[in-house]
Amino acid sequence: MTATIPTTATTATRRLTGFKPTGNLHLGNLLGAIQPIITGQYRGETIAFLADLHALTVTHDPARVRELTLEQATILLAAGLDPDRSLLYVQSQVSEHAELHYLLECATGYGEAHRMIQFKEKSAGQQQVRLSLLTYPVLMAADILLHDAREVPVGDDQSQHLELARDVATRFNARYGQTFTVPRAVHPEVATRVMNLADPTAKMGKTSSLDTGTIFVLDPPEVIRRKVLRAVTDSGSTVEYDPEHRPGVANLLEILAACVDGKPTELAADYTSYGQLKQAVAEAVTALLHPIQVRHAELTRDPGYVRRVLADGAERARHSAADTVHRAKRAIGLLT
Ligand code: AMP
Repeated sequence: MTATIPTTATTATRRLTGFKPTGNLHLGNLLGAIQPIITGQYRGETIAFLADLHALTVTHDPARVRELTLEQATILLAAGLDPDRSLLYVQSQVSEHAELHYLLECATGYGEAHRMIQFKEKSAGQQQVRLSLLTYPVLMAADILLHDAREVPVGDDQSQHLELARDVATRFNARYGQTFTVPRAVHPEVATRVMNLADPTAKMGKTSSLDTGTIFVLDPPEVIRRKVLRAVTDSGSTVEYDPEHRPGVANLLEILAACVDGKPTELAADYTSYGQLKQAVAEAVTALLHPIQVRHAELTRDPGYVRRVLADGAERARHSAADTVHRAKRAIGLLT
């Protein structure tokens, strides 16, 4: 994954989540981002977008990006995103993201972008680094500022990017007059972070080379079973929840807890062997994914529906985004 966008930004009533179409959605995406959207949409305003512009910051296959964009949107709907309650759209279909990105670039220093740790890490060793990889945190700032998000829950790896968004917004406001809401980072107390089953020290990710440890949302039951049963566990044989010393078992217990809405420490007491625990995890994950897979198959037979939802979402998103861009253009000196 090259361009992580934060991706959960909220005001008290607004939650903004972006999904990069750089690979197939996995259990980490589902438990860490999609399920909070589904439950959150009944409590406040929810915005989910397919961050296809961010997918272009690294070598990409055009047909695959297009295909993944539609697939991810279909999975979000299959998982329960309600287009009447939530806003779902494709980033590139709301040109205000790119427009605001440019205006914000004019308020960002080269040195600021170049300092980003993720840019250093992700560009290291690459022969051809796209300029967009350098500037993607500015696009991320545009994603956030476009929707006037006040609070942005971020993990440690995104703190620096959020800081950049704050700096750029503050500077823009100071130079050109109050234009943007300055977002504040919040660190969720309980952040679901699903780890790779083959390497519990690495986060489960879409483009990991460790596919054997990544459960994809559309994996068939027998594949899920195989991956879970092969999960790396720690030395020892008793089932205890100890993330520091037994990260493999802790990850399995956390996955189980998320699937059955339980607590890892309490669930640990129900199992006397790793084998038993793995069987339970395989069953729980399969049961969680089954209805999503069935609905996904139904929706796939009617791609017109998904496209209509996306077109309608883009229309609605444009409406509110246009207001922010208009404000920014006028402030910075463009004829509007
Ligand atoms: P991405 O996969 O970068 O497009 O991220 C989409 C959303 O899924 C973001 O909100 C991420 O924080 C979340 N996410 C990605 N990987 C994981 C993981 N392994 N565990 C929990 N949440 C994740």
